[in-house]
Amino acid sequence: MSLQFLPISRDEIERLGWRSVDAVLITGDAYVDHPSFGAAVIGRVLEAEGYRVAILSMPPWRTAEAVTVFGRPRLFFGVTSGNVDSMLARFTAFRKVRNDDPYAPGGAGGGKPERAVIVYANMIRAAYKDVPIVLGGIEASMRRFAHYDFWDDRVRRSILLDSRADILVHGMGEAQIVEIADRLNAGAALSDIPGTVEVRRDLPAGAHLLPPEAEALKDRDAYARFYREFYLNQHRLLAQESGKRYIVQHPSPRMESERLDAIYRLPFARLPHPSYGGEVPGFSVIRDSITSHRGCVSGCAFCSLGLHQGRRIVPRSAGSIMEETARISAANGFGGHITDIGGPSANMYGTDCAAGWKCARESCLHPDLCPNLRINTRSWLKLLRQALGVPGVKHVTVGSGIRYDLFMRDDPSLLDDLARNHVSGQLKIAPEHTSVGVLDVMRKKHLYGLEEFAEAFFAASRKAGKRQYLLPYLMSCHPGCRMADMKAMRERVLTTFGFMPEQVQAFIPLPLTLSSAIYHTGLDPLTGEKVFVARGEQERRGQHDVFHKKRNS
Ligand code: SF4
Repeated sequence: MSLQFLPISRDEIERLGWRSVDAVLITGDAYVDHPSFGAAVIGRVLEAEGYRVAILSMPPWRTAEAVTVFGRPRLFFGVTSGNVDSMLARFTAFRKVRNDDPYAPGGAGGGKPERAVIVYANMIRAAYKDVPIVLGGIEASMRRFAHYDFWDDRVRRSILLDSRADILVHGMGEAQIVEIADRLNAGAALSDIPGTVEVRRDLPAGAHLLPPEAEALKDRDAYARFYREFYLNQHRLLAQESGKRYIVQHPSPRMESERLDAIYRLPFARLPHPSYGGEVPGFSVIRDSITSHRGCVSGCAFCSLGLHQGRRIVPRSAGSIMEETARISAANGFGGHITDIGGPSANMYGTDCAAGWKCARESCLHPDLCPNLRINTRSWLKLLRQALGVPGVKHVTVGSGIRYDLFMRDDPSLLDDLARNHVSGQLKIAPEHTSVGVLDVMRKKHLYGLEEFAEAFFAASRKAGKRQYLLPYLMSCHPGCRMADMKAMRERVLTTFGFMPEQVQAFIPLPLTLSSAIYHTGLDPLTGEKVFVARGEQERRGQHDVFHKKRNS
């Protein structure tokens, strides 16, 4: 029998009559029992396999005592920083402390430590010498090998070493966590598990050897060489020498649509734990939205997603998405508006590869649209329409945004349906930049004209009798971007959209992304070419203010 919420306190465990738990999952976020929150997904997946799981959410971290609240778990501790890297959660793009945290109750900042994964794991080690520790989530996944860290401004070694954990789950972790729990339950070793990273003394047969960690840490050129090897071979069995041991990455298991449907069928309460006084802002935003697929074909250099979820699009079935729509519609307080049905880019739902996703390219869109890519915008629009037929649903709109160039390359005539039926006043798009040179460094070529799209969208909105806007997401300070590029972007954006958008994000080099390697080394590791990088605070501020100053004046 499943629980309404997984227990988060000693009292709840006792009320359930449990003497101990099998696993404790520590998270730096509030416990929101919803499929968009990693700890909830992992907890529910384990529960479905018959394991007793407790969630330790945002524990105090000054002493190790907090991790002992449920006693010693029978099998393991799982550790995640939450939905974002804890350094990103704590600091702005200009390394200022943030006062807010959308994943904390009431949105209050300061509820998790810097480098949360390392801190939590070391608390566990101080309390229990030999309980297995399993790392997961974006912070662990994107720090699995040596990686450039923007906040320390240096290359750090694998987080597995600093945390003294037993194993790290990379990418989406549902299959891995069950295998880990089953192995520990059977008294078996945690080695050679697909989708994990481990530290071991021997070099596994067939492993592709990366340049040693000591070399990657040595200087910028060496890091660029290491990064190139890692990036181009990221889906293989990899090994990197670290002292007398090896960091070994096992390729991710293949996720299938049926499995994804089964995960979304789990009995999530779809609410924050009732003990929280305030709202959890990050949940309020996605409460009435639905994830339709995993994966992203873009391979943009600055984004963690491709490296974390993979390039292959794994769609949920329409039936599973309609079931979730019906559950949302039946919930208390639902106002009739499904605010999103999408994924990393909403209209990638249904996209497939005619060659079975087997090639070695890192992007299906860069340097040009691959002829094997089968875009299927109709299947996504059909989903939105189908959801409108679910009792209680009055509107289904696209809250997350679309990859507009893919949409237009597929079938521009579909824009009428989108603008008429599925836009709630404004449509988000993410051109990121307008300079061809910067877009090339980002590996994000526009496959359709931005101006042509804007005109077509405004025309389709007028035809539908609606006054609607485009919200372009843009980026300053990315490698390759100079002041002149920002000024040119400002003029072009102002002309195209008729206003100065607020959604200009100063580039943050996220661990293990291609852009972070370019930022650190000043080289494109894939081509060896030098790249201009705006690095100092003043230069970065200057670029950023090209948009933000105007707004304040
Ligand atoms: S063959 Fe083309 S569409 Fe298929 S995975 Fe490779 S780049 Fe993407």
